[in-house]
Amino acid sequence: MQTHRIIDGKAIAAQVREGVAKEVALMKSAHGFLPGLAVVLVGEDPASKVYVKNKGEQTKASGMNSWEHKLPAETSEAEVLAIVQKLNDDPAVNGILVQLPLPKHINAEKVLNTIHPDKDVDGFHPVNVGRLWVGERTLVPCTPTGSVILAKSVQPNLSGLNAVVIGRSNIVGKPVSALLLRENCTVTIAHSKTRNIHNVVKGADLVIAAVGIPEMVRGDWIKPGAIVIDVGINRVPGEAGKTKLVGDVNYEECARVASAITPVPGGVGPMTIACLLKNTVEAAKIQRGIKD
Ligand code: NAD
Repeated sequence: MQTHRIIDGKAIAAQVREGVAKEVALMKSAHGFLPGLAVVLVGEDPASKVYVKNKGEQTKASGMNSWEHKLPAETSEAEVLAIVQKLNDDPAVNGILVQLPLPKHINAEKVLNTIHPDKDVDGFHPVNVGRLWVGERTLVPCTPTGSVILAKSVQPNLSGLNAVVIGRSNIVGKPVSALLLRENCTVTIAHSKTRNIHNVVKGADLVIAAVGIPEMVRGDWIKPGAIVIDVGINRVPGEAGKTKLVGDVNYEECARVASAITPVPGGVGPMTIACLLKNTVEAAKIQRGIKD
């Protein structure tokens, strides 16, 4: 008999998108405008092209305006900066997303830091990072927001839980730790230099794994009844010469011990774009001084 709950990221992401579509309709009826998201893609990276296409489609499906700026790989840094500046100055554009990775001759940090903080729907700008840590209203990175929504779908009040985040990247580990602190968790951040990591994880009521190592977290690391959120997306050899996706958590083993767990695919993955749409609406509200 299955005793754990599989957290359905696809279904929860659909609920988030429904909520966004309702807010977009309200913006139109109550405030007379539609929020809009501009995505900048430089080069021909196949995965990036798919992400940008999906972002554009979902933005339109929610009722918002969507613009795609597709630039050739040889576009200069100055040209990309000029486009970002133009989007900063355009009042119809509420959110700006520059798809990473950028070609090597472009300084990604410089480009991302040129995005106006109030239009930074990825939440990567140092001003937004600071606002998150001091607890101000801000734009929070999408994957961490999605991960916390999934944890709260199982346990709406996370207050007092011991949370262990594995990974300390600026994109996932650090911002998800800030969000969990805001939820009143006792947060431990484990990373590549953490000693006896399995013992650290064993103390967690909530585990968030964002490492990039396929199936690193084993079943005997997990405290019985813990909630496990697997952010990892790793492509590994599968059957018949094909590849398959696995997370940073050994799903089979951990599902036997956890009370609830996200699968890969179908867990955190679908939440990221849904939270990007949510951030675009939030950006529009911040820019127009509309209260939450
Ligand atoms: P990253 O490479 O920037 O960071 C990985 C972190 O893991 C580092 O902080 C490092 O200290 C830590 N680490 C490395 N080896 C470790 C070890 N042996 N033990 C403990 N910690 C170790 O990666 P990232 O951008 O944070 O992404 C992490 C994973 O999440 C990847 O699999 C990535 O594909 C996935 N991801 C998924 C989404 C999504 O939409 N679901 C979004 C972003 C990232």
